[in-house]
Amino acid sequence: HLDIAGLEARYGDHTVLSGIDMTVGRADVIGLIGPSGSGKSTILRVLTGLLPPVAGTVKLDGEPVNYADAAQVRRLRDRIAIVFQQYNLFQNMSVLENVCVAPVKIKKRPRKEVEEEARLLLEKVGLGDKLKRYPDELSGGQQQRVAIVRALALRPEILLLDEVTAALDPELVSEVLDTVRLLAQEGMTMLIVSHEMAFIREVASRVVFMAGGRVVEAGAPAQIFDAPAEARTRDFVSKIL
Ligand code: ATP
Ligand code: MG
Repeated sequence: HLDIAGLEARYGDHTVLSGIDMTVGRADVIGLIGPSGSGKSTILRVLTGLLPPVAGTVKLDGEPVNYADAAQVRRLRDRIAIVFQQYNLFQNMSVLENVCVAPVKIKKRPRKEVEEEARLLLEKVGLGDKLKRYPDELSGGQQQRVAIVRALALRPEILLLDEVTAALDPELVSEVLDTVRLLAQEGMTMLIVSHEMAFIREVASRVVFMAGGRVVEAGAPAQIFDAPAEARTRDFVSKIL
């Protein structure tokens, strides 16, 4: 459970997020939408400690996160995992090793147990026959599914997805969305930034529309897409649908 209140972030003296309030409950799937530069990626960066906030609070299960505490931020990254548009797999490691390396080397979990879990996860996303392959032997969609499984192997409580299909050829988008849909059905708590509006509409329990570093409007998908209250939301929705 994540409670965000009054969050503010800057790049230098350029304020890019202000007054962000958001609650993410267990098994919520939040669709974060908005124009380019509105601060969607920045929110995810702040939540994972990649960019320390200058004001506001983030509470994880009621406990305030201290982003100035490096050790706490490291632990936080197991609990809130992030997957980016560029999958950033380790090129010199097999699929299985990509998934297992952090849990084994950093979290010191037993290799056998981690590998077993990794196998099951990879099978679930349709990659059960690719364990020994290397990233450059896989399609973009397969690589992105490995990246998602690698994040899941940390057993995060919340998964942040930043335009995970944006770099993919159109015919590969649906296989990655299928994986995300499956996670949603299994009750994974997620914050999803995506330009795939039909998908957001289908999978999100709640949609947050951002512009200019602020939350303009939030609500059920049907409200945001069919009956937005704010002119800026209406304008955005009319252009992208
Ligand atoms: P997009 O849909 O294009 O990915 P976004 O909503 O994710 O956009 P952000 O990447 O969060 O937008 O950017 C928010 C603002 O912060 C923009 O004005 C952007 O120019 C600025 N910004 C982002 N990254 C940096 C950076 N590394 N240094 C300085 N300014 C940045
Ligand atoms: Mg972005």
